[in-house]
Parts: sequence; C-alpha cells; structure tokens
Amino acid sequence: MPWTGSRGKPTWQTLAAKFARRTIPMTPPRYIGRFAPSPTGPLHFGSLVCALGSYLDAVAHGGTWLIRMEDLDPPREMPGAAERILHSLDVHGLHSPHPVEWQSKRHHLYQRALDQLQENNLLYACGCTREQIRRAGGHRRADCRQGSPVSGTPAALRFCSEGEDEHFLDLWHGPQSQRTSEDPILKRKDGLFAYQLAVVVDDIQQGVTWVVRGADLLDCTGVQCQLFRALGAEPPGFGHLPLVMNETGQKLSKQNHAAALDDRRPTDNLLQALRFLGLRPPVELSLEQPHHLLAWATAHWQRQQVNRHNRRLHQ
Ligand code: GLU
Repeated sequence: MPWTGSRGKPTWQTLAAKFARRTIPMTPPRYIGRFAPSPTGPLHFGSLVCALGSYLDAVAHGGTWLIRMEDLDPPREMPGAAERILHSLDVHGLHSPHPVEWQSKRHHLYQRALDQLQENNLLYACGCTREQIRRAGGHRRADCRQGSPVSGTPAALRFCSEGEDEHFLDLWHGPQSQRTSEDPILKRKDGLFAYQLAVVVDDIQQGVTWVVRGADLLDCTGVQCQLFRALGAEPPGFGHLPLVMNETGQKLSKQNHAAALDDRRPTDNLLQALRFLGLRPPVELSLEQPHHLLAWATAHWQRQQVNRHNRRLHQ
C-alpha cells in the first residue's frame, strides 16, 4: 500500500491505515451535546431553534444528545412549564436516548464543587449590593467592601475569576477574547445555587464535549471556561446559535412573552426552524412526520450554513 498521496504527503487514508495497526486504538473523542432549558415558561420558536441546532450538531457528528432541565430557581419557574417543555420536545421528535436530568436533584454535586473551590481558596463570601457593584464598575475579591460579612448577614459566594483575557473559539462567532470585570456569584444570598455553577458542574459531570446554545450566553462563556479549569476539567467546545428576534428587535424570550410553540404543528415549526438554521428542506417534507424531517436534516446539517446574525424569522 502506498504511504503517500500524489504530492508525496501522507493522505488521511494512509495515515488512518497506519494508525489502525497500532496496538492502542485511535478513537476520536466522543461527542456529547445537550439542551438545557429553564422551566420559566413553555418553549417558544427561539428555544426550538436552540434545541434543534444542538440536536442536529450532536447527531450529525455521531454524538449523543442529552436533555437537562435547569430547574434551579423555583421563584422564577412557572408551574407545569417543565412538563410542557418535555412534551413539546417529544412532539417535535427531539428525543434523547438518556433520561432527563433535573438540576433540582443534583444539589449535592453543586455543594461538592463549592467545597472544592473553597479548599482551593477560589471562593469568597460577599455581602455587596448590586448598586455598590454598579457604582464601582466591577467586582473582584480585592474590591469586596463588605469582606466576609458578620455571620447571620446574607452573603453571596463568589468565584475568584482570573483578571486575564480568556480566549476560546466559537463555532460561529470565531475567536473570542473575554475579560470579566465581576467575579460571578455561585451561590446567591437567598441560598440558591447559581446558574454559572450548576451549568459547569453538570457539563463536567455529564461529560459534555460540545455546548451548542443561544448567542445570549456567549458573554458568560469566558468565565465558565475558567470555572471548568478551576474544577479540574478542560472546557468543552462552544457554538452560539443566532437568536430569533421579535418585531421590536428584542430576542424572543419568556420574559417578553414570546408565543408558546404550537405543538399541533410540529412539522411546520421544524421546517421554519431548519430554514432559520440555513437548511433548505425540500417541499415534499412539509407532509412528513417530525422524525423524517430530523433524519433529512441530520444528513444535510453543515455548520457553515448557519448564519450567525441574530434576526427576525423572515429576514
Ligand atoms: N438554562 C439556560 C436557558 O434556558 C441555558 C443554559 C445553557 O445552555 O448553558 O437559557
């Protein structure tokens, strides 16, 4: 067998054949992706785009797609929303081979991570108010006015972030360089674990290798990378999908009362979401069941077709 390509360079086939003879098999890193909705309301079209984008990227790469319910903040949750979200995913054919994980059942993992950070002196109690931090234009351990508040006074626990630029590559936004001016809260004054902690702990514990989610979370990715490393893990790859905007230029969100997905029209919803993600499903698919659309989309998914700009649905 020739070991070189036509220009004398090894081709990938020759290299693959060569490596296949080694005693240690070369297995590519496994792809584990996830969709992690917060049950603050039913899914809307923007969240379907994120669910679908993360699903397609995982499945098209031979990966596993997980669903994690981020029910971490009961005061912000809407009764019944988690069940509605799971029902919507189901009728749109977005199934995971693994059971749904619920953050409300994982508090012991978050506490263990806080203990680990505490042991490494990467955590501090802070009683500063939002207003104090806003006036100071940032917040790090050295700026903490309140220091360790007297016991009994409510205090948040903050992560000592690095004051350096954090670099990472985003699938659609390219090379990123982020510096955080504020140490993130990992446990809130009201005693609840914060999103930044839980999301990183879960992504580590579930072995997530690719985080594909909405572009509204791009800005907090740098500090999450720091937290991954502080907890002894390499950060996964990141891809931030374009947001769907409403007529007034705001992103569709539960806060601005985006309409709930109409679960009676899964095929139409999926076709629109696929077009938003840059695919061109043939008209014949408009009569098909969701699983047929998803099979077609998985075969045709290409990362470079996604237009990263946030925009309205029909732009
Ligand atoms: N739970 C977050 C949300 O619904 C998403 C978290 C993430 O994907 O990192 O916006």
